[in-house]
Amino acid sequence: MKTVHVSEITALVRALCIKANCELPADIRESFVKGQAAEKSPLGKEIFGKMIDNCDLACKNGVPVCQDTGMAVVFAEIGQEVHLEGGLLEDAVNEGVRQGYRDGYLRCSVVGDPLRRVNTDDNTPAILYTSLAAGDEVHITVAPKGFGSENMSAMKMFTPAASKEDIIGFIVDACSRAGSNPCPPIVIGVGLGGTSDKAAYLAKRALMRPAGQRAADPLYAEMEEEILRRVNALGIGPQGLGGTVTALAAAIEPYATHIAGLPCVVNIGCHVTRHAEGKL
Ligand code: SF4
Repeated sequence: MKTVHVSEITALVRALCIKANCELPADIRESFVKGQAAEKSPLGKEIFGKMIDNCDLACKNGVPVCQDTGMAVVFAEIGQEVHLEGGLLEDAVNEGVRQGYRDGYLRCSVVGDPLRRVNTDDNTPAILYTSLAAGDEVHITVAPKGFGSENMSAMKMFTPAASKEDIIGFIVDACSRAGSNPCPPIVIGVGLGGTSDKAAYLAKRALMRPAGQRAADPLYAEMEEEILRRVNALGIGPQGLGGTVTALAAAIEPYATHIAGLPCVVNIGCHVTRHAEGKL
């Protein structure tokens, strides 16, 4: 049994909030380079160039890649051989978010109540997902989520009779309706199966998959390819100004479901699909 003091979790979350906002993952930057090469529109190519410059300057100068520094989505995977001491995990995570957003000069974008809408001024609370894993490590992922893209999420409870084509059509339609709102080129996360809430969780997790990595199951890998092909044929293009690269990646995460249903959730990530991870 390993003992981890929750102050270590606070320090890690603080650092990851800053890192995630200032340093795009290498696979996302790489997808910009590939996207620029593939883009047919001259303006689209130029926009990709600006996105690459913006990404590199943010990293070099330690400033956020985007002014919308997002709501902090935190995945905490706790090894079953870990004993946490010194306080509650949730409090430690929120303290890390508080310190990270304050010390990193990151915009605080969270309101404490959905109707009263008063800013909490420290970007808390985080959206915290906890899970147990084998071993004695604490694995934390911080994924700041901007709402230009989050607002474009879509859900449909299909019947079991739905075909692959029905599902692909719904996902492509969600991306089409999103248009320029999610600051394309986008990353398309899809949760398929489970319950409605499980599908929404899987769609968010799907955005963490390295850009360009296909599902291990050929059935879903093929669907991802088809979704990408059709979304890129929409012509929305980089920043919605037209072009042939509207999506950088598509990832489907499936899960067992009930005989009577087939939940599907689309969670769209913008070109600033960020996350940073660390272990204790
Ligand atoms: S959707 Fe993404 S790129 Fe657009 S403003 Fe929000 S965080 Fe920034």
